[in-house]
Amino acid sequence: MQEMQYRHDRTGEPVSILGFGCMRFARKGPRIDLEETERQILRAIELGVNYFDTAYIYPGSEDALGRILEKNGVRDKVRIATKLPQYLIKGAGAIDRYFEEQLQRLRTDHVDFYLMHMLTDIAAWEKLVALGIEDWIARKKESGQIGQIGFSFHGNTAMFKQVLAAYDWDFCQIQYNYLDETSQAGREGLHAAAERNIPVIIMEPLRGGTLATRLPSGAARAIADDAHGWTPAELALRWLWDQPQVTCVLSGMNSIEMLEENCRVASSCEAGSFGREELALVADVRERILAATKVGCTGCRYCQPCPVGIDIPALFSAWNMMATDGKAHARHVYLQTVGLQRDPAFASACVRCGTCESHCPQHIPIREKIQEADRALRPLPDRIAGAVGRWWALR
Ligand code: SF4
Ligand code: SF4
Repeated sequence: MQEMQYRHDRTGEPVSILGFGCMRFARKGPRIDLEETERQILRAIELGVNYFDTAYIYPGSEDALGRILEKNGVRDKVRIATKLPQYLIKGAGAIDRYFEEQLQRLRTDHVDFYLMHMLTDIAAWEKLVALGIEDWIARKKESGQIGQIGFSFHGNTAMFKQVLAAYDWDFCQIQYNYLDETSQAGREGLHAAAERNIPVIIMEPLRGGTLATRLPSGAARAIADDAHGWTPAELALRWLWDQPQVTCVLSGMNSIEMLEENCRVASSCEAGSFGREELALVADVRERILAATKVGCTGCRYCQPCPVGIDIPALFSAWNMMATDGKAHARHVYLQTVGLQRDPAFASACVRCGTCESHCPQHIPIREKIQEADRALRPLPDRIAGAVGRWWALR
């Protein structure tokens, strides 16, 4: 295998172009599979990955990462990025409390890259400024407890530029992939950051896996028929690394095979190597996906829990599956995962409180879309079959 490639942070230190996204660690039932995760983290370090991205709200993630790094004495070989859950903060004291808890979970005395998590508009940053965050950051940087300060962003391009200009950031993190070239911060936002010499970390490079394993058949066929012989994930990753403004691409890797494959691609890509043919392939695949996809849900689950129990990502995932796996299969999956539960929460139970929409980084009009999805996934015969199935199971 060739060697990992590195781009640079604002101080000139090397950052591996592939970062380990720690939101989706391997699981054993409801818990993180610590043994398997340890194997993967150590292998990633061996292959040159030096950027590990976690967050306060990723269940068990900071703790697992901290334990594994401490146990193996490899804390100094990696750079940890974690995030302040700014949306939970009500008073100035909470900032310190979350940060101290994060240091304890991570078993470290410093965080290399600290982000304001999920800023969606300038108001969220201004709220933090009013609580004294700028002085707080200056003190933490001065003491060495924080190396570099940034923010992760889900919002529109105009708002991204406002947040970017509001502070002297060391780096930022955006959702970016070939389906989001003109949404979220978009290519325009990426370039705006580069103009300010602000390194950009990329999240959702595969749109929650859609661009790797859930492509509509026409899009998958276009990639398979292309002479490069790339996999769908490889195309999406190469498209990102082709752009020199991209510093590091996070991938939520949870198997050794996925890790080694991503490292192989990261070792062999080159900025500026996409020509007319490669860009035409991306344009063709994008068009085919957009023609088939029902809703741009990434499965992040930020909209959960819903007060009446509607599993929104499961509903949208099944709905999108209609394009990739066919109607019958999608309906069957939905029946199995939701419809046959003892007390299933269908879209009809929605009380239109709007909580889900206020948390959705993709700005999906969830209240409206869940009704459409429900109509598509549960035509009358399926409603009857579901009711009979539940009656049979519960009798
Ligand atoms: S609007 Fe409907 S789906 Fe969204 S959180 Fe409220 S009840 Fe749940
Ligand atoms: S609906 Fe929005 S918040 Fe919920 S899982 Fe999908 S993208 Fe995430």
